[in-house]
Amino acid sequence: MIGIMGAMIEEIEPFLKRLSDVKTTQIGRNAYHEGLYGGKRVTLAYSRIGKVNAAITATALIERFGADKILFSGVAGAIGKDLRIGDLIYATKLVQHDVDITAFGHPIGFIPETGDFFETSAELNKIAEEVALAKGVKLGKGVIATGDQFVADSVKKELIGERFKADAVEMEGASVACACDAFRVPFFALRAISDAADMDAGFNFDAFLASSAKISADFVLDMVAKL
Ligand code: SAH
Repeated sequence: MIGIMGAMIEEIEPFLKRLSDVKTTQIGRNAYHEGLYGGKRVTLAYSRIGKVNAAITATALIERFGADKILFSGVAGAIGKDLRIGDLIYATKLVQHDVDITAFGHPIGFIPETGDFFETSAELNKIAEEVALAKGVKLGKGVIATGDQFVADSVKKELIGERFKADAVEMEGASVACACDAFRVPFFALRAISDAADMDAGFNFDAFLASSAKISADFVLDMVAKL
């Protein structure tokens, strides 16, 4: 079964509209929608915002629903200068930019026996490249940095960019990657840019959340059709 995740209702709705035979189950405080897309069984999970919510939801998707792969779809702030609002970027690897046990000599982002960067599935990334080619859309790739902060500050953004060579910042990806790594489940993480993580980020996020979330969801559904 293919697991799909989003953190906000705006990231979930474009999928929900296009799934058939939907059965919704509430586990704890999260909703899981089992359904069909192009004959494929998918479970769409609405995590709510942040690393903890996302890790809980990913774990339930794997353990309770039997997801054998997880595709995350959502929006992110751009760090890379060539990323514009609405552009798509998938993660080659993800890192928790707010993990700090540097007092013990570890690099920022690093957790003992866990590591810092989580790689995504080469197989799923290849399918994404094929879908982009077929659709004729521009698809970026790079490092996505995750933390429990909405970044709306150019200095903070540049710092995250320099430290991790990150191209985009958001609040869930690396925690889902961590859950997928723990359970050995292939992971794909796609984001459409909603803002530039700068002083205008709050305003732009509100303006572009729905349109960017839909761009990301449409792309992921085209991937599902190919899985
Ligand atoms: N407006 C919402 C909060 C949004 S938090 C509310 O008040 O309920 C931002 C969400 O979008 C997170 O899920 C995160 O993954 C993503 N995101 C988009 N731009 C971001 C940025 N600049 N920094 C961090 N996360 C960002």
